[in-house]
Amino acid sequence: MTEPTGTPTHCPYCSLQCGMVLRPTDDRTDHAGPPAPATPTTPATPLSVEEWPGFPVNRGALCGKGRSAADLLNPAVRLTTPLVRDRPGAPLRPATWNEALDRVAQAVRRIRDGHGAEAVGVFGGGGLTNEKAYLLGKFARVALRTPSIDYNGRFCMSSAATASNRAFGLDRGLPFPLADIAATDCVLLVGSNLADTMPPALRYLTELTGRGGRLIVVDPRRTRTAAQAHLHLQPLPGSDLALALGMLHIAIDGGLVDTEFVARRTTGFEAVRTIAMDHWPTRVERLTGVPVHQLRQAVQTLAAAPTAMVLTARGSEQHSKGTDTVHGWINLCLALGKAGRPRSGYGCLTGQGNGQGGREHGQKADQLPGYRSLTDPAAREHVARVWGIEPADLPGPGRSAYELLDSAGTPGGVRALLVFGSNPVVSAPRAAHVEERLRALDLLVVSDVVLSETAALADVVLPSAQWAEETGTLTNLEGRVVLRRKAVDPPPQVRTDLQILSALADRLGVHHGFPAEPRDVFEELRRASAGGPADYSGISYERITGEGGVFWPCPGEDHPGTPRLFLDSFATPDGRARMVAVDYRPVAEPPDERYPLYLVTGRVLAHYQSGAQTRRVPALRAAEPGPFVELHPHLADRLGVADGDQVAVVSRRGRAVAPARLSTAIRSDVVFMPFHWAGPGRANTVTNPALDPLSGMPEFKVCAVRLEPVTAP
Ligand code: SF4
Repeated sequence: MTEPTGTPTHCPYCSLQCGMVLRPTDDRTDHAGPPAPATPTTPATPLSVEEWPGFPVNRGALCGKGRSAADLLNPAVRLTTPLVRDRPGAPLRPATWNEALDRVAQAVRRIRDGHGAEAVGVFGGGGLTNEKAYLLGKFARVALRTPSIDYNGRFCMSSAATASNRAFGLDRGLPFPLADIAATDCVLLVGSNLADTMPPALRYLTELTGRGGRLIVVDPRRTRTAAQAHLHLQPLPGSDLALALGMLHIAIDGGLVDTEFVARRTTGFEAVRTIAMDHWPTRVERLTGVPVHQLRQAVQTLAAAPTAMVLTARGSEQHSKGTDTVHGWINLCLALGKAGRPRSGYGCLTGQGNGQGGREHGQKADQLPGYRSLTDPAAREHVARVWGIEPADLPGPGRSAYELLDSAGTPGGVRALLVFGSNPVVSAPRAAHVEERLRALDLLVVSDVVLSETAALADVVLPSAQWAEETGTLTNLEGRVVLRRKAVDPPPQVRTDLQILSALADRLGVHHGFPAEPRDVFEELRRASAGGPADYSGISYERITGEGGVFWPCPGEDHPGTPRLFLDSFATPDGRARMVAVDYRPVAEPPDERYPLYLVTGRVLAHYQSGAQTRRVPALRAAEPGPFVELHPHLADRLGVADGDQVAVVSRRGRAVAPARLSTAIRSDVVFMPFHWAGPGRANTVTNPALDPLSGMPEFKVCAVRLEPVTAP
């Protein structure tokens, strides 16, 4: 692939990892006209973001977040020096790196000596590069010798990952390139509003419908994505599994099952069939609120399409039955024979920038690099050999993300937590409780680019370099490994996470095995992943550069990579996909008299995740300045609420206050809040941490609430 001049690289935000080109701002006259003058709302940045039309994923398109990403480099919005707190309650003050790192190492040693290695925990992030995710997992298990590590990706797509691993023997978000979406005949899109979350991807759906393909969207809200669908199913939140079972019932009843495919390429259909046949369409209509005629139309459309895809995202996955729900969709996809062949299959639209790679290289509580299981003796042996330790010295699996946070400062829980690239004070469920638990720690260390709400609580804050200031690989939602390249030096008192981990390991007495150069870490990652499900051993920085990214698995330098999986067989021992018998169960917290409404949470176009970065970008802040509560005008009428009035969303865990935004795009028994803000409008104050027993995914996407008008004092 011919690369453009400037620094071709990738966006700091979502899992699309759009290609972009960075140029020095004062160089812009040569390429894109005169630079825009700096104003109080558009601060000067050292780089400008330009399009990279040749990169195949986004083909030059960028959303507003990507276009404004250079604003994150402005020293005024980011951390530029280490900070320490001298005692609880004291303000953070600037410190030298030596002082900050010494303080961390001393406190870790003290806590480890007093409470055991497992009392020191690590919390990572789905935005960290593969190199960082890899070294963080190694740091926890080799330098700290703790099992207490997990990351915020547990909150993102862990239920889909668990289901995919079980059904297909392998979890790669999309088992095909994104461009295949434009070439299929029908897409069933469940719980995704990609028009707002990853706008450049919408063009693949537009191309699909432009060719005459069909788009069916399942979402409780009529989002901008749903508005483009031929058919929009608007189920009650948390009822997706019933919907999938009812659709399978209709398919079986109507003779639409691809019996030849089911017999040849799958196992487990009979048990799945038995449960599906209990889900009569009229029963499913009662459970979901979706009319029977729409259910039938959806099944017939999907079955009639020669090729089709079923794609899920957080709306269907962030539930206490998230894994089972995804299995429901996978079962439907398999029963209709829409998998294991070109332009067909099930896929998960991962959300975070390195949501895919972040779950493959060892920062997850139960995994080793290469997407290996921490409980597999052969995997332990292989990785221990690469790390130069005995397999017996590798800790076992630790607590999942919410359980880890919930244990903070409790007897038997973690007493120290090192957080890298995550802001759980805003992004974790039952966030006020999580904040309380973090305050109870003996040591909280946060490495981040900005003073996030979590960093503001820390005893030690380590300012880390960001996307354009360091090189590293990420794996996008298609399983395409891409290379972000350094375009500018970080400020003098800022270090990369790799440098931080290297320095901390050294202070903890582990003087080797923690290189600070990304390329060195990647070379070790290649060896550690070799032979594993996510095999990167054939991928190099040079190949990524030359080929526009390389799809894993790529088990050798002469291997072309694997854009499409499962065409001949699935990755299970017998090559067949597993249909798993799953039954419907209600949401963890159904509405009742005191809390009669469903709350769903989600993202808006201008912001990303906890908003720690995007809230600091003037254009994004101007586009969406604060939280809001979306509700139907009928509900607003009943409550006496007008558009713009302050309302409190109250659950059993707390209340979040924000202005009402009236919309007919939402059911009148559902309210919606975006989760990007802290303070009184923090949506996750309200959300339910009920966990999926299989994946540890919390039930972010539905809980019971009531609305209370807030009168001015
Ligand atoms: Fe960045 Fe995602 Fe927007 Fe692309 S869609 S520019 S990766 S935030």
